[in-house]
Amino acid sequence: MRYRGREVGGEGRVHRVMESTLTARDRVGVQDFVLLENYTSEAAFIENLRRRFGEKLIYTYIGSVLVSVNPYKDLEIYSKAHMERYRGVSFYEISPHIYAVSDNTYRAMRTERRDQCILISGESGAGKTEASKKILQYYATTCPVTDHMSTIRDRLLQSNPVLEAFGNAKTLRNDNSSRFGKYMDVQFDFRGAPIGGHILNYLLEKSRVVHQNHGERNFHIFYQLLEGGEQDQLSKLGLERNAQKYHYLVKGCCPRVSSINDKSDWKTVRKALTVIGFHEEEVEDLLNIIASVLHLGNTQFGEGEDGETQITTEPQLTYLSKLLGVDGPALREALTHKKLTAKGEEMIGPLSFEQAVAARDALAKAVYGRAFTWLVAKINQSLAFKDEVYNSSKGSSSVIGLLDIYGFEVFQHNSFEQFCINYCNEKLQQLFIKLTLKSEQEEYEAEGITWEPVKYFDNKIICDLVEEKHKGFISILDEECLRPGEPSDISFLEKLEDTLGGHAHFVTHKLANGKTRKAVGREEFRLIHYAGEVNYTVNGFLDKNTDLLYRNLKEVICQSDNQILSQCFNREEVTTQKRPETAATQFKNSLAKLIEILMSKEPSYVRCIKPNDAKQSGRFDEALVRHQVKYLGLMENLRVRRAGFAYRRRYEAFLQRYKSLCPGTWPNWQGRLADGVATLVQHLGYKPEEYKLGKTKIFIRFPKTLFTTEDALEA
Ligand code: ATP
Ligand code: MG
Repeated sequence: MRYRGREVGGEGRVHRVMESTLTARDRVGVQDFVLLENYTSEAAFIENLRRRFGEKLIYTYIGSVLVSVNPYKDLEIYSKAHMERYRGVSFYEISPHIYAVSDNTYRAMRTERRDQCILISGESGAGKTEASKKILQYYATTCPVTDHMSTIRDRLLQSNPVLEAFGNAKTLRNDNSSRFGKYMDVQFDFRGAPIGGHILNYLLEKSRVVHQNHGERNFHIFYQLLEGGEQDQLSKLGLERNAQKYHYLVKGCCPRVSSINDKSDWKTVRKALTVIGFHEEEVEDLLNIIASVLHLGNTQFGEGEDGETQITTEPQLTYLSKLLGVDGPALREALTHKKLTAKGEEMIGPLSFEQAVAARDALAKAVYGRAFTWLVAKINQSLAFKDEVYNSSKGSSSVIGLLDIYGFEVFQHNSFEQFCINYCNEKLQQLFIKLTLKSEQEEYEAEGITWEPVKYFDNKIICDLVEEKHKGFISILDEECLRPGEPSDISFLEKLEDTLGGHAHFVTHKLANGKTRKAVGREEFRLIHYAGEVNYTVNGFLDKNTDLLYRNLKEVICQSDNQILSQCFNREEVTTQKRPETAATQFKNSLAKLIEILMSKEPSYVRCIKPNDAKQSGRFDEALVRHQVKYLGLMENLRVRRAGFAYRRRYEAFLQRYKSLCPGTWPNWQGRLADGVATLVQHLGYKPEEYKLGKTKIFIRFPKTLFTTEDALEA
C-alpha cells in the first residue's frame, strides 16, 4: 500500500527527510528547516535558504509551512507535468513546492470534508500574488471538470487579469504590485470539482488615483486603455493615446515600464471581461468611468473676476458631464461650491482654490474606488455557485480560501495606509498564534503530554491597543474626526498621548521625565509592533480616515445615467443624517469578518521572501532576507515546531494503519487502544525519546521515525 500524506496524516502532517540523499544535503541544504541541526540559529537558517536558492530550490518547509524565495525568473517548474508529479503525493516524498501545498490542502478538504485556507504573506514583491495564481492554476488544471464547470474554472482564472488591471500598479518595489488585499474562496462540489468562487477585497490604495511617488505609476488600467484602446473608442471618450497628457498619470514620471506590455495586457483584460460575462453596456460604463477620472485630473481651476474659484477647462467639463452621465451645470457648481447647514438652513458657499482641487481629487478617488468595489461584486455574481446549473447539492460542497494580502510595511515615511496594513498583519499574527502555537500547546496539555514551554510573544496587547472600544487607537481617531471645533492631526496626536501614553507599545517624542526622545519626530508616533518598531507620521490621518466627499458632489453623482455609478452612489447616502463609517472602522470591521472566516477553516501557510531589492535573479541579499525572516516570525515558527512533536495520530487510526506490522496487534487488537499502540511501537523498535503516548493519541517527535514505519508497510 502506498503512503498518501494527509490521508494518513489527518491531524498532523508529515514531511520528507531530505531531497535526495544525505550526501546532497551539504550542497542543497535541508528541505525542511525542522531537520536543521542548529535549529535555533538564524545564521544557519539563512545559510540553508541561501544554499537552496543557489541551487534554484526556492521552496523549503518549516513543517507544513512553505517558505518561498522569489527567483525573479522562470524556473520552468510549473508545467502540467510538474503538477502531475505532485498529485496525491505527500510532502515528504518529493521536493517542496507550491503544488505540494495546493495538493495537500485539496486532499485534506476532500478526505476530512473540512474547509481549508491558504494564507500567503510576505512583503511587496516577495511573490504572494504569483503564488496564489499558481495555486489556482493547479486546481484549474488538476481538478475534475465537466463542460458546465469549465465556465466557472475559466472565470476564476480570468478574474485575475481584470482585478490586477484595476487594482495593481507599478511601484518601486514591484512592477505589478497589488494595491489591495484579496481573499478568494474557491468552492468545490462533492466530486472535488470547482463550482464557484467569491472574492473579498480590502483597502484599495485609492490615493494612487490622484498621486504617485517618483518612479511609480497609477493603476495599470489607465495605461492599458490609452495604449490598447481602439482609436474610435478613445475619440468617443475624448482621450488621446498619450499618457503624458494626463495629470493623474504623470506624477511619478514613469509612463512606460519595460516588463509591462500595456497594449497586449489590454487585449487580455478585454477578453477576460467577456469570459466573466460583462455586457457591452457594462464595459462601456466602466470605460466611461476610467476616462472620467482622467478628465477630472485635467480639470483645472482659476480665479474669476470676483475672486471666486472657477473651472478654467471647459472641454473637460463637457466630457465629464457626458461620461459621468450627469448635468453639466450641476457638476460645475458642485466642483466649486459646497453646501453648508447653518442654523438649520442650507446654504451654498464657494470653495477656495485648494478646496476645489481637494474636492476634485476626492471625487476621482471615490468614483474609482467605488467602481472597483462594483467590479468585485460583478465578478462575484459571475462566480456565484448556481445550484440549478450544476444540479448538485450546495450542502456537500467545501471551500479553499486563498489570502493574498499586503505584508508588514516599513517605509521612510509611514502614514495611515501603513498603519492599516501593519494592523492587519498584527491580526493575522494573532490568528497564527491562536491557530498554531496555542492549539499546539493546548493539545499537548489536553493529552497529558509534558510540553516544554516555548517562549513566544503574544501580540494580543498590540491588537487591543489599536482596536479596543473607547480607549483604543481607532476609537480615539474616530472621536477626533467627529469632534466639533477644529480637530487636526496634531490635536489627534495629543489625544493619543493623553490616552495611550505609557502603554508599552506606544511611544511619542515625549519622554516621561519631560525630555525629548530624538528618534520620534514631533508629528510622529511610534508603534512597537510584533515585528519591530515603526514611526508613523500623523499628517493626513484625519482626512484619510474621514475620506470626505462633499455632499453636493455626491448628490450630483447619485443622479448619474451611468448604471455603475448610480449603483455605487445611492440616494440614501445623501438623504440620511447618519455619518458614514470611517475608513479605519470599516477596515477594522472587515478584518474582524476575515478573521472569523479564516478561524473556521484549517490553515496552511506560504511565507514569501524577496531575495533582493533590484528585482534581479540569482542575487541573495542576506541582510534583506534576515529582515524578512524576522518580520515573518520564521525562527519562532521553527522553534515551536521543533519543540514539539512533528506528528500525532489518534490511537485507533494509528493501529488500523500499522497493525499488520506486528503479530501482537494483527489482525485485531482486543484490549485498550493505548496498550495496542504500545505493543506495536515496541515491536517496531521505537526508542523512548522518539515518541510519547497521550490520552487518545500517539505523538512522534521526528518525521524519520514515521517514515521508517511507512517504508516497512510498503516493503
Ligand atoms: P505585492 O505585495 O507588491 O503585490 P507580491 O508579493 O504579490 O507583491 P508578486 O507580484 O507575486 O509579488 O511578484 C513580483 C514579481 O516577482 C512577479 O511579477 C514576477 O516577476 C516575480 N516572481 C514572483 N514569484 C515568482 C516565481 N515563483 N517564479 C518566477 N518569478 C516570480
Ligand atoms: Mg501582489
